Amino acid sequence: MKRTREVHRRSLKHTKLRSEQISLRLFSCMVVIIFSILYISIPLIIHSYQEYVKTNQAVTEIISLRALVKTANQISKERAPTNKAMSSQPSNLLKNKKKLEEHRHVVDTQIDQTISVLKRNGFESIALYLQRDLKVKLLQARTEVDIYIQLPYQQRTAKQFDHAILSMFAVWDKNRDFLKLLMTQVKSKDSKMSNYFISILVLTDMRDQAGRIASNIMAPITFDETIADENRARSLQTQHQAQYLWSLVDTIQPEQTKTVEYIRLHERVKTEFLDQGLPLVSKLLDQSKNGESYFLTGTQLTERMVSKFTTVMDLQNYILDYSLEVIKQQNKKAKQQFIFTFGISIVSLLTAIFTMIYAKKKVFSPLIRARNLILRLSRSLDEQSSLEKQSKEEFFSLFEAIDKLKGMLKQRDVMESQLKQIANSDVLTGVANRLALEEYINLLESKPEGLSETCVIVVDIDNFKFVNDQYGHIVGDQVITMIADQLRHNVRASDLIVRYGGDEFLVVIESIEMNAAKAIAESIRSGILKQNIIISSVGELIQVSVSIGVAIGAESWLELLEKADQSMLRAKAKGKNIVES
Ligand code: GH3
Ligand code: MG
Repeated sequence: MKRTREVHRRSLKHTKLRSEQISLRLFSCMVVIIFSILYISIPLIIHSYQEYVKTNQAVTEIISLRALVKTANQISKERAPTNKAMSSQPSNLLKNKKKLEEHRHVVDTQIDQTISVLKRNGFESIALYLQRDLKVKLLQARTEVDIYIQLPYQQRTAKQFDHAILSMFAVWDKNRDFLKLLMTQVKSKDSKMSNYFISILVLTDMRDQAGRIASNIMAPITFDETIADENRARSLQTQHQAQYLWSLVDTIQPEQTKTVEYIRLHERVKTEFLDQGLPLVSKLLDQSKNGESYFLTGTQLTERMVSKFTTVMDLQNYILDYSLEVIKQQNKKAKQQFIFTFGISIVSLLTAIFTMIYAKKKVFSPLIRARNLILRLSRSLDEQSSLEKQSKEEFFSLFEAIDKLKGMLKQRDVMESQLKQIANSDVLTGVANRLALEEYINLLESKPEGLSETCVIVVDIDNFKFVNDQYGHIVGDQVITMIADQLRHNVRASDLIVRYGGDEFLVVIESIEMNAAKAIAESIRSGILKQNIIISSVGELIQVSVSIGVAIGAESWLELLEKADQSMLRAKAKGKNIVES
């Protein structure tokens, strides 16, 4: 018993281990799936986040560049009211000086705005240079211009005028240094945005060079003097430079970004600035060469050229706005991409975890529990079977466990029927007992035809007490067994043989006629008479006879039995060893 308990405990432990093994496998699968999702999604998340950060940076960088380009343009633009004020006649001087002051205020505001934009976007050093160097340079140039304007007209010279113009050029040159510095610091110039950066820079340079074409000859024109070689050379040089830069603009601009608006603005620069603006300067240079008087004064030249520059600035502003719009779109897309990638990754991760937990809780664990339950159930049924077998139970799957249980149940069914048979059998002879007879009678009485054709044969051993008394109970039992064997020998397996009392048997035969029944009874009687029982203790042979009563058909079982019993009693009364019906 102790050993049984030990093996049972060990077997349960093994079963538990197997469940743990399934859980472990499930956990490993879960880890592999989760790691796979992480392996795929982390680089995607990082990449999309980097793309978002990059485009975000590009937005701030292009905003900074735009601010600095606007400053450059405003400085360039200040040369127009400066030249106008310096070349104006006393009658217009006050009005032009006022306009100059207004523009200077615009430039100052622009510089301050640019400084704050640069600071905000992480370009503090450039903001500091603007604050410190650019403003100083601008102040110096403006002081020179103001000194010239305050000079009495007779004391003014073209050289002084030209000198003031050159000092204004120097301010723009300073600003260009900062533009270059900004370009070395921006990171998005390495991206697909680089073309926009270059276009904007080239256009900024071109706009300034274009302005200088006229400014370089402004002084001699204002003083109605011959254009000196130096001024002529400077003017021609800036003209070439502007034209060269112009040719670059269209070359570097990517074809797919040449929108209808770009093409329209580009065309306008060509027709208005190149085709109409530059010939004005060329004509003045020719007039100077030929000693002719100029067809324009300095002020007129400024006014005529200014209107031509606006086309260059329009194109530049368009590219700036367009590139900012493009990068903002890219930024928005990158942000959406990042959110989407992040979201999808989280959702897949959570789904995987949820599925695994759900599968474990709702599928695997119940299956494991069911399997263990079935095993335990089959084990309890199989308590008597080989104990060694139990130690192998850890290898059972659910289906094997079900099969095992099925086997156990089948075995139990067999045992049940065996038990039932034992309960319904007579222990000594193995024929049916009264319990079985009762069940059989219930069955017979439930049939529609009832007991009308049922035959009952009552067999009673003659003088059995004598056998018992003379030879003992063991011999008596031998005789009873022999009678049962003879009955079995003379009737069909489907007929019922019942040991009804100590030495009394019944044979129940369905659907039989009296003659046939009597024939069977007769063959039973004669068969028994022929049997010799050997009494080994005394070396004697004994013979026994039986009296038989036969009856067929009655309303009830009791009536039928009574009829058969009466017949048997008649047989006894007539001298025994006969059949009566
Ligand atoms: P009759 O010819 O009129 O039938 O007389 P009988 O002696 O056979 O009388 P009865 O049928 O009344 O006697 C039956 C005897 O059978 C009584 C009992 O002691 C005996 N007996 C009952 N059951 C058993 C048994 O299982 N084994 C043995 N050896 N004897 C039994
Ligand atoms: Mg008897």
